[in-house]
Order: sequence, then C-alpha cells, then structure tokens
Amino acid sequence: MRVLVIEDETKVGCFIKRALEEESYAVDLCEDGVKGLEMALATNYDLLVVDLMLPSMSGMDILRTIRRERIQTPVLILTAQSQIDQRVKGLDAGADDYLTKPFAIDELLARVRALLRRGATESSGMLQVDDLVLNPATREVTRGGQRVDLTLKEYALLEYLMRHTGRVLTRPMISEHVWNQDFDTFTNVIDVYVNYLRNKIDRGRTKKLIHTIRGSGYMLKAD
Ligand code: CA
Repeated sequence: MRVLVIEDETKVGCFIKRALEEESYAVDLCEDGVKGLEMALATNYDLLVVDLMLPSMSGMDILRTIRRERIQTPVLILTAQSQIDQRVKGLDAGADDYLTKPFAIDELLARVRALLRRGATESSGMLQVDDLVLNPATREVTRGGQRVDLTLKEYALLEYLMRHTGRVLTRPMISEHVWNQDFDTFTNVIDVYVNYLRNKIDRGRTKKLIHTIRGSGYMLKAD
C-alpha cells in the first residue's frame, strides 16, 4: 500500500513517514501544497494524509481539486488545534477522516488501517489477473480457486505487480513501492522474492503469469 503524506512541518512529516514505513507501507512525503497535488493527481495512491496549512496551496484546496477530478482515494486530514472549525469543512469537501495535532501515532495508524479497509470494501477492490485473485481487504490470494499462502513481503510484492498488470516494473520501481530500505543493498532481494512468488503462483502451471523482461525487470500478465 502506498501513502502520500503532504505535511510541511518536517519533523511531523518524517515522524508519520517513519511510523507508516514500520507498518510496511511505502510512503512518499511532500512538504509543498502544489507539488503534493501534482503527486496526488499523477499517482494512484491508496491513501492521502494531508495537512491543512501548507505553502502554496491549502490542504482544503488539494482535497477539493482531487475530488473534482473524481479521485476517490481516502483522505485523512491533519488539523492544528486552532483549526478545529475546519474539520467540518474538510469532511464536507470530501475528507474521510481527520486528526487533530498533536496526535498519538497509534491513533494515526489505527485510522489509516480503517480507511484502507473501507476503501477496499467500497470499491470491492478485488484484483484479478486470469485465475489469480487477490483481495486487499482480507489479504487473501487464490489461484484457480486454491488458496496461496504468502508472507507479508511476498504479498506486498504481488499486490504491487497486480496493481500494475501488463506494465514493465523495473527493480528500482519495485524497490520504491514494496521495499523502503535503500535500493542498492537490496537488489538481489527483489529477484529472490520474485522467485519465491513464482514458486507459489506459477510453478506447475501451464500459464505463467510472472514474466522476466530481460534487462528491465518484471511484468505480471496473462499472456
Ligand atoms: Ca502545516
């Protein structure tokens, strides 16, 4: 799951990013309103965490713009104590939840989990490629109706591949979305995990879904 945090207070932003990363989310952090909006429009995030007071564009304007663009990504807004009256406006403008600063990090994580669950249920959220089915809400994976047991990291990698079916995914891209550590030291880890996945998804099956694109990376597709 990939999260965009738009927060101009570096300390708060980094704190949120680190906490989410420890929960295995891939996190982008942006400290500017206009840049944050561009990122939110350009990338299919699973969740946005948006501070209200931002340089160049307010969190409220970001929220209104993405909802006008029919982007249904769940949005959690952050408000300062002095902006409590803004919460109602935020919810009216299409925010899914809000949190008042300062907040306990456990509360933020609980709300993030709730919003991601809600998003997956509402859009039914099932990912399917051929007879491979992944349910983000329950984290259940089946192939040909048979349950496939995956580790958390294998699951995160498969979810990323399935969300980008038919596209070549380079190792740096995979690293960025699925791994949060420095890519250089983990180059081989990606190949190792793709092989783990192959063993569980493709081994013994006529139709292979995970393809190696020589010199580029990997692609999940039916043909
Ligand atoms: Ca701020």
